[in-house]
Amino acid sequence: MRIIPISLPTPFYIGPVNVYLIAEDPITLIDTGPKTKEANEALREGLRRARIRVSDIRRIVLTHAHEDHCGLARSLRDEAKDAEVLVHDWETGHRVGRLKYEAHRALLARAGVPDTEIETMRKLYEDVRLYADSFDVHEYSALRDEAQLEFANGSLRIVHTPGHTPGSCSFVREADRTVIAGDCVLKRITPNPILSPDPIDSSRRFPSLAEYLVSLARLRSFAPTLVHGGHGGPVRDYEELFNRYLRAIRERQAQVIRLVAKSGATAWDVAQEMFPKADDVHRFLAVSEAVAHLDLAHAEDKIGVELSGAKEVYRKISAD
Ligand SMILES: [Zn+2]
Ligand SMILES: [Zn+2]
Repeated sequence: MRIIPISLPTPFYIGPVNVYLIAEDPITLIDTGPKTKEANEALREGLRRARIRVSDIRRIVLTHAHEDHCGLARSLRDEAKDAEVLVHDWETGHRVGRLKYEAHRALLARAGVPDTEIETMRKLYEDVRLYADSFDVHEYSALRDEAQLEFANGSLRIVHTPGHTPGSCSFVREADRTVIAGDCVLKRITPNPILSPDPIDSSRRFPSLAEYLVSLARLRSFAPTLVHGGHGGPVRDYEELFNRYLRAIRERQAQVIRLVAKSGATAWDVAQEMFPKADDVHRFLAVSEAVAHLDLAHAEDKIGVELSGAKEVYRKISAD
């Protein structure tokens, strides 16, 4: 069972995205690239090199529903004459169109993001969503944790690895401990745990960073020898990456605790301090990062949080 990486251009800051072709029955594509002419052409070129036609694809599996990964899924599905599309049920992004914006708006307001800024973020995301087609509920099958994707020769174990998004999944070939991890594992950068409503109760925040730490540890339990990420080259030393991520997360946590220590701060205040130069979409990512770390520090009893009007204000826990 050969895993063939295909790199596709994206219009996003992150750069090219990796999708993975498994050229064995049933022919399966893991992730698709964004809905752009350039990505579409590069994908077809990659398939051609592997002597596969779009019409041969029987299964389209999504690691998660960000535009750079799922954008072409619907058009490929249509062209492949009803290939099956699989994505985890907790993936609310483009699985069934963008989750109602209201849930996001409420989370941003609670994080202290000013109204004008929320409106700017909404407009930016309206633009980004043009890079993907959405699906209706009946148009995909659910990826289930611990189930297997079977192939003529071998299988991939589905491992639910939430954190970057609630429904992120990885795929493990246990025979040689190879992992396809989407944006859960990226060679050069620490993935951003994106601010998301909880898939079970959309009035709550998904505890993205705490979940992400569990996912990293879970992947570690497979002792991977090779990890294919959503962006950048493959990771051969997962242990090194795991420890590096943990260090980065602890350092960032120490920083957010210092930032709220003096007078109390919202996640927005913390984001502004950490990333003063962030522009457009990066302002949302900065807030995501701040919320994720504040939530984790709070869950670990290192800081307190109280509601001030509609906003959450984090404070140092007093030492009395
Ligand atoms: Zn992503
Ligand atoms: Zn990505």
